[in-house]
Amino acid sequence: MEMKGLSRRDFLKGTLAGTLGISTIGVLGGCSPSETDSSKTDTPNNTQEFNKASWRTPPEPITEFVKNITTDVLVVGAGNAGLFAACAAAEKGAKVLVIERNAMVGIGREWIGAIGTRLQKEAGININKFEVIHELASYASNRVDQELLKLWADYSGQTVDWLENVVKEYGAYMILETDTGGPSAFKTFPIQHNIQNDEKTIKSTLILEKKQRTLG
Ligand SMILES: Cc1cc2nc3c(=O)[nH]c(=O)nc-3n(C[C@H](O)[C@H](O)[C@H](O)COP(=O)(O)OP(=O)(O)OC[C@H]3O[C@@H](n4cnc5c(N)ncnc54)[C@H](O)[C@@H]3O)c2cc1C
Repeated sequence: MEMKGLSRRDFLKGTLAGTLGISTIGVLGGCSPSETDSSKTDTPNNTQEFNKASWRTPPEPITEFVKNITTDVLVVGAGNAGLFAACAAAEKGAKVLVIERNAMVGIGREWIGAIGTRLQKEAGININKFEVIHELASYASNRVDQELLKLWADYSGQTVDWLENVVKEYGAYMILETDTGGPSAFKTFPIQHNIQNDEKTIKSTLILEKKQRTLG
């Protein structure tokens, strides 16, 4: 997709986030650490070191802009979440722009956990998502956002079904790992999916990057 002489490939090819100086500060503003009253935190011993962490200081606002570009959706970061989001928005007809600070897309991970996928149904596997949520929360001593776990449990199946269709478009395929290992202290579930091509694992972000370019 060409945009006023600047192609999406150019965007994804590194240095652009810096060069364009798009107002990522504004976009990411919500992620900036808010002022906290350190007297209220009870982090043991290292509170002072923690408060000195560089990320706690918001960066200087960007004031110089090389170019203004109008887009419906700006995705900051071509990583796992960003590329899924970009593809989803583009499929719904939005004009999408992805900017990435590195020279290449983020590292796609090999194992993709999901519940209720087509592959699981075909294998006759029916997982109780509440049992999985309970187990995961237990591992974290229940100090975890269970709503977030439920969001994943509710939507990961259809997301991975979508991804399975996409990987087929690019000559790869998805497998479901049904061997969850032998008995252990932890209960395991057959949720892991993996993208492969000729027995080699393929990173999800590489496929998503191609899909994103196809969608424009
Ligand atoms: C060794 C290792 C193995 C893992 N294996 C698995 C696995 O098998 N399965 C699994 O599900 N998870 C795995 N994970 C975890 C998984 O990688 C992360 O949970 C996942 O990548 C998080 O996705 P994300 O989109 O939030 O962040 P990322 O994938 O890290 O993407 C963020 C992107 O944003 C870019 N970015 C950041 N700031 C800016 C900015 N200001 N401007 C422009 N771009 C910016 C970054 O360069 C990056 O490309 C593994 C993690 C590690 C470290």
